[in-house]
Amino acid sequence: MLPKPGRRRFRWTVRAAVWLSLVLSFAPFLAPFSALAASGGAASPVPPGEDHLVVLVSLGGFRWDYAVKYGARTLLAMAAGGASAPEGMLPAYPADTAPNQYTLVTGLYPEHHGIVADRFYGEDRTRLFDSSDPAAVGDASWYGGTPLWVLAAGQGMRSGCVLWLGCEAAIGGVRPSLLFSEKEAPDTARVEEVLAWLRLPPAERPRFVALALAGAEEAGVRFGPGSAETRRAVLEADAAVGRLRRGIAALHLPVDLMVVSDHGMAETEGSPIYLQAYTDLGGISTAGALLYPGSEAAAGQAYEQLKIADARFAVYRRADLPKGLHANTSAREGDPVILALAPVRIRAQRPAAAEAPEPPEAGSHGYDSRLVPQMRAIFCAEGPDVRRGVRLQPFENIHLYLLIAEMLGLHPPQGDGSEGVLSPVLPASH
Ligand SMILES: [Zn+2]
Repeated sequence: MLPKPGRRRFRWTVRAAVWLSLVLSFAPFLAPFSALAASGGAASPVPPGEDHLVVLVSLGGFRWDYAVKYGARTLLAMAAGGASAPEGMLPAYPADTAPNQYTLVTGLYPEHHGIVADRFYGEDRTRLFDSSDPAAVGDASWYGGTPLWVLAAGQGMRSGCVLWLGCEAAIGGVRPSLLFSEKEAPDTARVEEVLAWLRLPPAERPRFVALALAGAEEAGVRFGPGSAETRRAVLEADAAVGRLRRGIAALHLPVDLMVVSDHGMAETEGSPIYLQAYTDLGGISTAGALLYPGSEAAAGQAYEQLKIADARFAVYRRADLPKGLHANTSAREGDPVILALAPVRIRAQRPAAAEAPEPPEAGSHGYDSRLVPQMRAIFCAEGPDVRRGVRLQPFENIHLYLLIAEMLGLHPPQGDGSEGVLSPVLPASH
């Protein structure tokens, strides 16, 4: 076994009894450590709980109130018995899939980790990142920060990843130890893969797993958050989590199971807004609603024209964007920047006549969760490092990274999150 990093802030003596019971319960798994524990006694510097595993699950587009609204029994049971955020978790801005999946595993705001949108131009304005393009997604040069699987590898810990953004790229030269990349695989197959990994012998078993499930994203976008289709998708996602939860329980391993979502979903208001109706986009590269003018004059002109265009959105020069969005320092975000004030769909360009028309989208996301609270995501967790009955006020998802690092005994780098925010989740022994 590789050396394990020490856990921070452990109260060794308090945990001695728990440690001994863990040794007894998981004796086969802990064989490499039990000898150390026996020689060290109660004052052993060998940290208790270092065998703990974390399975982080993200349900696509799963709004914070879906579990109650649609009666998702597994998630409600997890929330009742473990830790939860009854009013939701705040996604990073923009509340889109790629920025938030990568924020969850890096503890950084999107402009600090580089994935500022699902589609955006690089600093050179020629390379386009598109989260649906495998070549872009697999190119490590887009990604900053230290995702949990890279952090784990650097500290001698194995990891597994199912379809989480960034896993396909060799970030810092590192990929997760185990990878599952079948994008079309249904949620049940993704769950079975993770359970198979957890059944591996200890030396091969991943200690950290990131599992992205399709969740209710597609149904929510196509049919809206209140639709029968979304209700069905919510219950299917809940069943997939239930399958995972039962499978984990049968393994008798110390697994912290954490279920989150990337962002919520709002009922789309009105018909799409196309910015080209208000300003000349000649000389401006565009991606979605992001604008990349070729000159300062073009940027200034677009800003002046868009400023008075429509009460449903605001426009800012990037440097003037409200600080709380943490979206005003990266050239990848474009300039000027459009901020939707309501759940309206905004695109720079109307789709060309030759292209297939955009399908109607009854649901949408990508907004500031303070302006559009339907963007709030879910959070619930249970396991040996989770206090029972913890109810959290809405918190930013940048803080999860430090919680997971603490559960795994990993030393995290400095990031955007703060340790204190989620410390109520941890038992007193941490
Ligand atoms: Zn999403």
